[in-house]
Amino acid sequence: MDKFLCGVDLGGTKLAAALFTPQGELVAKDMVHDHSDKDGDGQVLAIRDLLTTLFRNNNIVPADVAGVGIALAAHINFKKGMIITTSNFVHTITDFPLVEKLGAFFPGMKIVLDNDANAQAFGEHKFGAGQGCESLVFVTVSTGIGGGIALNGKLHRGRTGTAGEVGHSIIDLDSEIQCTCGNYGCTMALASGLFFPDLYRMHLKRGVESSIGITTETADKMNGPAIKKGWQEGDPVSKAIVEQSAAVVGAELFNIFSMLDPELIILGGGLMALGEEYQNRIRDEFRCHTYKMMVGEMEIKLAETGVDAGLIGAAVLVLE
Ligand SMILES: [Zn+2]
Repeated sequence: MDKFLCGVDLGGTKLAAALFTPQGELVAKDMVHDHSDKDGDGQVLAIRDLLTTLFRNNNIVPADVAGVGIALAAHINFKKGMIITTSNFVHTITDFPLVEKLGAFFPGMKIVLDNDANAQAFGEHKFGAGQGCESLVFVTVSTGIGGGIALNGKLHRGRTGTAGEVGHSIIDLDSEIQCTCGNYGCTMALASGLFFPDLYRMHLKRGVESSIGITTETADKMNGPAIKKGWQEGDPVSKAIVEQSAAVVGAELFNIFSMLDPELIILGGGLMALGEEYQNRIRDEFRCHTYKMMVGEMEIKLAETGVDAGLIGAAVLVLE
């Protein structure tokens, strides 16, 4: 019998685990929401318990799975199976050997750890929009911006594992908005949901008027859905933010094209819910930078792995 693939999505608000067939079809899924205040060892125990329950409920033993892939938003040392640092949870976890610690509970089972954007990139390559593509870049535009690079059918992680961190490529050297990484003018600081309140205040200061009554004091509530609503209601500030976000992401896609010339760039993440006009703006912005450089058409597609993207991404890591 072909072995199941098992994926663990260790998120800030939910910890989920799932079994998939080798063809990527979901067999079973389970999740908990009470792990976020635990330290590294606590997370290991939460994953152990979730996997044990998942296996038991589906009448399988660890030997029935090809391995377990774990994905989380973190700086990861892939080769050592360690979390270098993550601020995804209530307590920051640093220099934590997650693979070794979890492995102690499942002797002999293959366990792989990577960051969520790399996992999703590989998930799209295997079972999503990137099937049949040897070289692709996955870009997620959400609360933050992240990315993963697959070259010749394998993930390109770079020397320290940070390859593909497109959220921190610097687009505007003169920007007044400081990113979580400490730099100014990163794509993430100019285009992602986390920074919409800062961008809202910036546009207000520049004299753009809010038509929905938002002030510098109340701008904190302008998250992705609020900006979408404001944009639909004709608010000039929301419109400026959406247009700026699309322009920045489009320019970043051009930077990726210049650097890697991949067959395909896949766009995913919560801000794609801003809709088709936003997505088309990104494509238009990308094309307006290309001039005569394009030989043939590099494709830009939307991610296809959907609500279980994190889980399937994690699970396919064991196939790499
Ligand atoms: Zn940054």
